[in-house]
Amino acid sequence: MIDGRDKLRKLVLNALGYCGVAALARPVVGGIGAILMLHRVTSHLERPEGANCHLAITPGFLDQVIADMKTRGYEFVTLDDALERLRRGQGGPPFATITADDGYRDNLTEALPVLERHGAPITIYIAPGLIDGAVDLWWDVLDEIVHAKDTLTLKSPSGEMTLDCSTPANRAEANARLLTYFTTEVREEEQGRVLHELARSCGVDPDGPRRDTLMTWEEVRKAAAHPLVTIGAHTVHHYSLKRLEEDFARREIVDAGRILEAQLGQKPAHMAYPYGYPSAVGAREVALASAAGYASAVTTRHGVLHAGHAAHLRALPRISLNGRYQRLAYVRTMLSGISTPLANSGKLLVTV
Ligand SMILES: [Zn+2]
Repeated sequence: MIDGRDKLRKLVLNALGYCGVAALARPVVGGIGAILMLHRVTSHLERPEGANCHLAITPGFLDQVIADMKTRGYEFVTLDDALERLRRGQGGPPFATITADDGYRDNLTEALPVLERHGAPITIYIAPGLIDGAVDLWWDVLDEIVHAKDTLTLKSPSGEMTLDCSTPANRAEANARLLTYFTTEVREEEQGRVLHELARSCGVDPDGPRRDTLMTWEEVRKAAAHPLVTIGAHTVHHYSLKRLEEDFARREIVDAGRILEAQLGQKPAHMAYPYGYPSAVGAREVALASAAGYASAVTTRHGVLHAGHAAHLRALPRISLNGRYQRLAYVRTMLSGISTPLANSGKLLVTV
């Protein structure tokens, strides 16, 4: 999951305006490759206008993006191969590797047929706690909650909060308020209890979204056995690591590898930090991922790959395929590299 209030929104909205400039800027800011980031890939989104619609693209759009990138010379490779090309540096055609976070079932049922047609590999990052049901797909549960009643009352330590959920605009505002509350005011380990209490008060099943949209272990094993699929780790409980004590954060990173190895018979070589934005991942988390032996770790920071990333393999940025703006022009603009410094205070080599 990534921040619903993605900062790239405005930037991407202006993408068409950047297109001409992007083509000219490419030799200066363009990288040698890109890691694409997916969450859901489906034609059957439960709430196409919901708060989390940015997390889903259609299989048709994925097909278009891959086909378009191929015509522009991109080679679709495994994550291992992408790391190898980073180490080799400049020279050779541009490359892309596809990643997907959280283990949505539609990655298997709707994305994989597209990837098979293109022979494009994918790395799917799994958080065992989300598969087991130890933690909830809370951002989707929140969307259910704001749709359940016209008025919502939340008892927080700082007092009672009443949220109007009677119109789409009010629901969006209530969702944003709850998102802030859950990510900044509730402790990560407390999130489940607070969410269950709130869901119960609205008649919402907090396990519903997880059960309906994420893979089971059996499905994860099926995915792992596919020649185009690599399974990576996404920590155990999908907590925001920066908000945890160091030992706790270390366990989240190390134990995810152990659990996945026990379930799949192979230790994952790669990981993705949950949320991946600056308030969730920093230098400490990169050091922990490195010490845990992961060959790579990806964030949700926006950026293309440069040869310099060979020295920052546990702090790799990605290009998100965003459900709100499914336009080839936006993807081309982002891949040109021009949006990388624009979204990162002028930085070309985006790490953490
Ligand atoms: Zn995630």
